[in-house]
Amino acid sequence: MQESNDYSVSQNNGGAKTESPEARPNGSSGTAQPSEEAPVLPPAALRGNGDDLLAHGESETDSLHSGGPVAQIATAGVDLSGVTPISELIRWANGRIVTSRLAPYENKSVIHANSTGKTLNGPSYRVPPMSPGVYRSLVLPTAPKLFGSARQLFSAIAELLEKHVPLPKPERSLVSYWAMATWFADVLQLCPTLVVTGSGSAANLLLRTLVAVCRRPLLLADATAATLRALPLGELLPTLLMRSPQLSKQMIALLDDSTHPGYLVSSGKDFQQFYCPKCIYVGEDATSHLKSSNSIRIHVGGSITRSFSAPPTGDVITDFQDRLLAYRFLGRNKVISSNFHVSGFRPETSAIAEALGAAIVDDPEWQNGVTLLLKAHDEQSRVEHSSGTNGIVLRALLFHCHESNGEHVFVREIADTANRISSDDGESGKLSSEKVGHVLRNLGLYTRRLGSGGRGLVIDKQTQMRTHRLSHAYDVPKTEPACILCHPPKAE
Ligand SMILES: [Zn+2]
Repeated sequence: MQESNDYSVSQNNGGAKTESPEARPNGSSGTAQPSEEAPVLPPAALRGNGDDLLAHGESETDSLHSGGPVAQIATAGVDLSGVTPISELIRWANGRIVTSRLAPYENKSVIHANSTGKTLNGPSYRVPPMSPGVYRSLVLPTAPKLFGSARQLFSAIAELLEKHVPLPKPERSLVSYWAMATWFADVLQLCPTLVVTGSGSAANLLLRTLVAVCRRPLLLADATAATLRALPLGELLPTLLMRSPQLSKQMIALLDDSTHPGYLVSSGKDFQQFYCPKCIYVGEDATSHLKSSNSIRIHVGGSITRSFSAPPTGDVITDFQDRLLAYRFLGRNKVISSNFHVSGFRPETSAIAEALGAAIVDDPEWQNGVTLLLKAHDEQSRVEHSSGTNGIVLRALLFHCHESNGEHVFVREIADTANRISSDDGESGKLSSEKVGHVLRNLGLYTRRLGSGGRGLVIDKQTQMRTHRLSHAYDVPKTEPACILCHPPKAE
């Protein structure tokens, strides 16, 4: 896969004209101080013929409508037919955060106006309450800006990363997919956590560069579980960019839980949905305890020796934020109805690939690119799965299933075999018989007392079947070529 710019997106986005520099809003006017409660302007109230743009905050517009900044952005060649209005948080040049409504207008332009605080046919939308520190540092777009195609935007993100972060190309691409997915976290079924290892300075460059290209980024240092609960995560849905070399068990559990939408967490007075995209730097080469089923690992630094630019400037950040806002607006419904499916991976990896691919709009080839990048991740995930405690115990039990002839096996024998397998794998940990008994019970394999020799399993047909089914699910290697349960005859 190559990062070319010469691709023309399907008729939907083809020919999207690049915006002229004047199309950028210049912030609100110094005089009028429009309110975020201002009414949505009907299209008829807009000046111009639909092809030019009314600058954000023009005083005439303000005096005409007292509705605050309004912009109409020509979108010649862009098919707006499937696009529905959305409300978004926007930051004005004076630092104020407002809700802004984006709506298609007569299939030839996008109107961008102050929101009434309600989405059309939708729930009310407000600026979520947040602490002054968060309010000041939250990075937001200023106005939508045309972006070309998904692939052009992707390439621009990858180039930005190349300029600022010591990151090999495959990782750069993976991070670019992830960054684009953060713009659709509200409509994706999951948002994988980006877990970063490597040098602290390289990780710092990555996190600070991601500020430009993620939706609603917040840089956090030393965040604790209490910090996270205090943020309006549910309503704001920020992208958390965290430096947390020391993750407590509680944090790990909380972070793992926040990968999928829908779960509520108590934040003291109230409950809120605890879900948002996250990129977490966990240290030099720390083995992260975050579940690999929910995360993608990236190693920064390494052997790259050339020097890298300082993090992107404010102008560059705004430019990316504005283009990505338009991308979200135009692509959101297509992401919702995405039918991008991935097979051949472990189910968890497929889910990650589908989420990242769905965020690439109108470009099936580029969508597929993410599956190539996740191959290594999938292999790693298989190994981890089968080398975890459940996997080791199943490997041991499968061995006994193949050895015993309809007899029984004691739990201590399974433990001995499991420990032999672990030490063959170079692992030092030892499993007690008690622990193995727990693992078996959790897997639905119930031991019983077998005379004076202690507890064990009777290797009957049912146990054989169950062990094989679980072994398959845990990617336990099939070591017995003659076993018909390991290698069922293929149905014609
Ligand atoms: Zn078998």
